[in-house]
Amino acid sequence: MQKQKSPSFSATIRFARGNTAITNEADPDRHLMQPRINLLEFDRHQLEGFFRSIGEGAFRARQVIQWIYQRHVTEFDQMTDLSKTLRQRLASIAELRLPEMVSEQTSTDGTRKWLLSVAGGNAIETVFIPEDDRGTLCVSSQVGCSLNCTFCATARQGYNRNLSTSEIIGQLLFASRRLREASGTHLVNERLITNVVMMGMGEPLLNYDAVVPAMRLMLDDLGFGLSRRRVTLSTAGVVPGIDRLAIDCPVSLAVSLHAPGDPLRTELVPLNRKYNIAELLDACRRYVAGDSRRRVTFEYVMLKDINDSEGDARALVSLLKTVPSKINLIPFNPVAGIAYECSDSRSINRFRDILMAAGIMTVTRKTRGDDIDAACGQLAGNVLDRTRRSARMRAASS
Ligand code: SAH
Repeated sequence: MQKQKSPSFSATIRFARGNTAITNEADPDRHLMQPRINLLEFDRHQLEGFFRSIGEGAFRARQVIQWIYQRHVTEFDQMTDLSKTLRQRLASIAELRLPEMVSEQTSTDGTRKWLLSVAGGNAIETVFIPEDDRGTLCVSSQVGCSLNCTFCATARQGYNRNLSTSEIIGQLLFASRRLREASGTHLVNERLITNVVMMGMGEPLLNYDAVVPAMRLMLDDLGFGLSRRRVTLSTAGVVPGIDRLAIDCPVSLAVSLHAPGDPLRTELVPLNRKYNIAELLDACRRYVAGDSRRRVTFEYVMLKDINDSEGDARALVSLLKTVPSKINLIPFNPVAGIAYECSDSRSINRFRDILMAAGIMTVTRKTRGDDIDAACGQLAGNVLDRTRRSARMRAASS
């Protein structure tokens, strides 16, 4: 699993080398002219490559990863099992840079949302959802989103760019530290975050090369050490990405289905035009093939009079007959400027009962953090929209 080639590593090295050419080779301080390499860009395998490239043993990667992700140390100087010379060298050529907090909001139900600034004047949102038996961090993968699902707040923000690996894993590192500070515990191993869901802003499978190393750090025993069951990637249905993920990093898979048939799904999730339901469900079957305990979670947002009838529930049952599945019904969270309404609780319960009676494990997702706009589909951040979609939408709704 760690044997993947490392696009961000080679790109960064090329970048650093490229700059060397224009600096004075005789100048001992020439490294000051080079951009520092952010080591949070690398999973363990990539970090081993980095250490080899600077003439150090690959085992350094193991030491440094433990410092960063298990002890939350981001000053090289504090990494006391590295020699002083190596610490100084790292401080001059490398850095450990996380997204910075712009603001923090706490919901009456304990959910916390952070606005984090990332390069290029953008900001993203990360949400922590505490429950009795677990703490879930909802992580963003892109600045905005290019998919334009009609019911989602992120879509209205438009799209700017993919997040880098450091900006993705940095959300987890930031939140772990922040929560530890807030809880007053000094025990680094205290597990406040037990689960991660790639369900924040963006479509993770359209940012595959940065998302996979970040998830590997989440799973790595020397990193965050979360089990595959506790890391979930949610996709609107990027079929080739699902197949690649099965090979490279088979975490739990969630799929935003939202409709039992193609015409309605295409209306709600325009990506359906590219990969229709039949192709998507085939990919889901391939994803869990060979492991009878695995299931795909299908997310289904409950939209009043749009996709919530008894007929829709029965159509969903027959659609998912041959896919090992669980269903998460998500009550629609209102978004300014979007005209859908949430189904009433009677319809949601009736919908759930039909699915359950057919033997499909179904959970209605509790709405969390809606008083601070931290609920599903409400994340918006601060996106310098490149697509002009946000402006078009504002114009259309005014
Ligand atoms: N792009 C990925 C990751 C986003 S996950 C995906 O589509 O799966 C966010 C989840 O919240 C998705 O299932 C999304 O469809 C759902 N969602 C979006 N807007 C929502 C809203 N207003 N109310 C409830 N759920 C919403």
